[in-house]
Amino acid sequence: MDSPVQQIKERLSIEEIVSSYIKLEKAGRNLKAKCPFHNEKTPSFFVSADRGTYYCFGCGASGDIFTFVEEFEGLDFKGACRFRASIRKKKAKKRNCTG
Ligand SMILES: [Zn+2]
Repeated sequence: MDSPVQQIKERLSIEEIVSSYIKLEKAGRNLKAKCPFHNEKTPSFFVSADRGTYYCFGCGASGDIFTFVEEFEGLDFKGACRFRASIRKKKAKKRNCTG
């Protein structure tokens, strides 16, 4: 059995999550944006949809869907899980969020 975290990662694309917070632009196979974690004028924040990760060449911020949401909103994992539920409620039935 996959862990709940793994299941969520498989169902949600990082592109979908990040683009709900900031504007993403296509950059080849990846997406780029102005980093939400530091001030910059040119985008150095890259999202890899393939890997489900992000990385900022400006400030070194990196992680996955959960790291992004936590960093951006200051949520703990349960908060991130509820967040996931809220944005997916149209498509997803209620799923188990631990806690
Ligand atoms: Zn940055």
